[in-house]
Amino acid sequence: MPRATRGNTGTGASRRGFLKAVGGAAGLAALPSGVVNAPAPSQREPDVIVIGGGFAGVTAARDLSHAGLRTLLLEARSRLGGRTLTVRSEEGPLDLGGTWVHWTQPNVWAEITRYGLAIAETPGAIPGRTLWWRDGAAHESGWLDTGPLIAAAFCATEPAPEAPLRLLTTLAAMNETMNRFHADAAAALPRPFDPFFGGSWRDADTISVREKIDALGLSDDRRIVLEGMLATSCHAPLANASFAEMLRWWALSGRNLERYNDAVARFKLRDGTVSLLEAIRADGDFEVRLSTPVSRVEQGPDGVLVTTSDGERIGARALIAALPLNLLGEIDFSPPLSAEKLDAARERHAGSGVKAYLRLRGETPNFAAFSDEREAFSLLFTSHEGADSGTLIAFGTSASKIDVHDRAAVESQVRRFLPDVEVTESIAYDWHLDPWSKGTWCMFRPGQMTKYLAALREPEGRVHLAGGDFALGWRGFIDGAIESATSVAQRVIADLDERGR
Ligand SMILES: Cc1cc2nc3c(=O)[nH]c(=O)nc-3n(C[C@H](O)[C@H](O)[C@H](O)COP(=O)(O)OP(=O)(O)OC[C@H]3O[C@@H](n4cnc5c(N)ncnc54)[C@H](O)[C@@H]3O)c2cc1C
Repeated sequence: MPRATRGNTGTGASRRGFLKAVGGAAGLAALPSGVVNAPAPSQREPDVIVIGGGFAGVTAARDLSHAGLRTLLLEARSRLGGRTLTVRSEEGPLDLGGTWVHWTQPNVWAEITRYGLAIAETPGAIPGRTLWWRDGAAHESGWLDTGPLIAAAFCATEPAPEAPLRLLTTLAAMNETMNRFHADAAAALPRPFDPFFGGSWRDADTISVREKIDALGLSDDRRIVLEGMLATSCHAPLANASFAEMLRWWALSGRNLERYNDAVARFKLRDGTVSLLEAIRADGDFEVRLSTPVSRVEQGPDGVLVTTSDGERIGARALIAALPLNLLGEIDFSPPLSAEKLDAARERHAGSGVKAYLRLRGETPNFAAFSDEREAFSLLFTSHEGADSGTLIAFGTSASKIDVHDRAAVESQVRRFLPDVEVTESIAYDWHLDPWSKGTWCMFRPGQMTKYLAALREPEGRVHLAGGDFALGWRGFIDGAIESATSVAQRVIADLDERGR
């Protein structure tokens, strides 16, 4: 079973409290057994069932309820939030899953604005020192071959006046390398929120990030820093991630290193992602049943019939499955989902790396340290700096390279860069072992976007998929989950209107 070294705050809704709150849940239970072509639901039955209570499911349920549809959300875990999970620490909330948000992510930003939530920053996204690991030793700027210094270009980011020159030099070199790696982004995705508009992204989808890096013929120093950055973004071995995915992230960030960095690692919800999730949930008028995995979905001409793992059967007029791609095959759909959907689920997306917060005793500077994808951690950077203690965030491409719960193993990695610190605690969640996620954020393998994206987005009668893994824009992000949920909920509302409410 997955481990988190801390309990989670969840949404604060205990199952008991929830059952008390929903009251009418018993009335939802059980259409007559054996009913496949579910009849139009009675007054007490939901119009729509949403399976999955991550950001997509909760957003869809809110929007359906705003349209006056009776909505029941069934969630397998004992908490909402899915691949986001906020835990409390002495330094404040820590997000063990989805964390960073940005105004270039319009769907999540609109929600943050709507609910007036506060933002905080992760200092290590703008590090005071940048290091990397090469040939068994840590290196710091000055070693990085900057070639023709493109500081002028990068100066657009206006480093703080006190930023040391070595930082500018490293970032300038990184900027140049990132621009080279992503040079095809504009042609590949001229409208990054609409891949079907055109562009050459299908060419990029035939190769992996690994192949593209190798083709650049970079010096070791440049390759390592680039690899550290990209391995962190892919959260997977680089041979498993499509080059098109990285072009998408770059295109969505305005093809600019500063915005890319800001979008994926700098700004977070001050009170944790749970604060946004709770705001969305509180704004909706829908029922939630926790610890209720769905095992079967039957669809007939008039409705759907859902069977939970404890055998309860619930009918509705439409269904939104707001599930991770990697879990689509685990629910028995009748009629089955399309072959493309099932093939994609069988192949799984590649996102399966590690993320951990490492609490340190000893001076913790504001720094970032990159390693190539063979190392346990591709990136370490500062979450909280301090003269006597602090916290780092560690990312790596695979749990097979390090047990993030092994304090000593983690400490030896950190001491590569900060030889005098002790790791006192490692706080992490095993998303790849969790049966309700089976992976981390969605990172398509080479060829998957070409083969599956359109098919995954196709509704099947009254069954609709929603989720961060099926989004057009920031797929693999909270923004993608909200984008997908918003549009799918509108489609379901229109569909039920057409069929006559
Ligand atoms: C370590 C990590 C770091 C990340 N970092 C970021 C980041 O910084 N910024 C960002 O924007 N995004 C980030 N993400 C991605 C982001 O968290 C996800 O893209 C987003 O939360 C997905 O939401 P979702 O609702 O589509 O899916 P999920 O959150 O996976 O929700 C699906 C829900 O379905 C439930 N479920 C599954 N099977 C069943 C079943 N049979 N019956 C009932 N319920 C079921 C699950 O329990 C889950 O609650 C990160 C993710 C991880 C894991």
